[in-house]
Amino acid sequence: MLSARQLFLQHQAQTTDFPLLLEIERAEGVYMYGPNGEKYLDMISGIGVSNVGHRHPKVLKAITDQLDKYLHLMVYGELVQAPPAQLAHALAQTLPAGLDNVYFVSSGSEAVEGACKLAKRFTGRTELVAFDKAYHGSTQGALSLNGSESFKQSFRPLLPDVRHIRHNHEQELAQITTRTAAVILETVQGEAGVRVPSKTYLQKLRARCTEVGALLVLDEIQCGFGRTGTFWAFEQFGVVPDILTCAKGMGGGMPIGAFISRQEIMHSFKNDPMLGHITTFGGHPVSCAASLATLQILQEENLIEQVAAKAARFKEKLVHPAIKEIRNCGLMMAVEFDSFAVLKAVIDTAILKGVLTDWFLFCDQSMRIAPPLTITEAEIDHACAVVLEAIEENIRF
Ligand code: PMP
Repeated sequence: MLSARQLFLQHQAQTTDFPLLLEIERAEGVYMYGPNGEKYLDMISGIGVSNVGHRHPKVLKAITDQLDKYLHLMVYGELVQAPPAQLAHALAQTLPAGLDNVYFVSSGSEAVEGACKLAKRFTGRTELVAFDKAYHGSTQGALSLNGSESFKQSFRPLLPDVRHIRHNHEQELAQITTRTAAVILETVQGEAGVRVPSKTYLQKLRARCTEVGALLVLDEIQCGFGRTGTFWAFEQFGVVPDILTCAKGMGGGMPIGAFISRQEIMHSFKNDPMLGHITTFGGHPVSCAASLATLQILQEENLIEQVAAKAARFKEKLVHPAIKEIRNCGLMMAVEFDSFAVLKAVIDTAILKGVLTDWFLFCDQSMRIAPPLTITEAEIDHACAVVLEAIEENIRF
């Protein structure tokens, strides 16, 4: 019998020559466990997914309750099924008036695809504006918006009429014009290494979109669902998007995504052509049940209120000459080192000591710290102590 590790390497498609290769048998709360007694404190939440921790009991209950009723019944949007309907309602309650129409999909990339199609269809325009170091997914449309040439060059031709401007540079907002269908921005840039725009910049971006009739799409796939200390990150900037995308943390560990907009905008999918966006699994009842439980946990367990204090504790503890800077918006954190070589050595040592961190796609000298929001003070202290030990063991001053 081949081991799971051998099967993984032989039969599961690989996208790097150096996957992490940790074998995980089960997970609970902030911990993941290996087959030989290994225990890892998860500081990255499956890349921003396990905001309420692994296997939260209320998420499990919502899933098992739904399993007893039905799984997939029909492609998106034909049958009335309580889980997506109730989740759409609950999402609307978290949002400013007007953002009350939800299209469910199965992943973040798909949410971005839907949002961009919707903006093009509603405005009748073709240009999409995105930002340097943006990450919106890996499908061809979402990849076209990617702000790093090295990820795109081998896959051209991609979408035409995509313009990239510099993040947080007010002078470049003039490049958003009456030709622009949508501007898409991660409210807090994730893979760029946690880049938080200034409040005035976001407000000017919003104003420019309104002025020229372009739709503002905020991508909260990584920064939404409580990660930054408010339910949605945009709440901290005094702006409201025309379309919002979410995924990752919204499912509590189940696959789901959504793009959300006003009825008036979303209705344009009904004609020219009708069925303007189609998905088989979007709004899967089990994922929606898990997502509704996740949303309720965030609201009922005061997890979001605790984010700022937990983030402050990380910043207080993670002090070392090797740490150049810590950028964060709530528990979406980037700890900056001198180089990838230093960071990689620290990450590898920390893993051996049972703390799992990571770096960012477009920022390989910053350590990604984005633990489940359920992490306790004692667990934060432990994680920080291990990271500091790992630094000490790898860097000689
Ligand atoms: N947008 C952002 C901001 C993301 O961080 C990601 C995933 N890292 C995506 C979109 C794409 O999501 P998915 O991998 O579910 O397609």
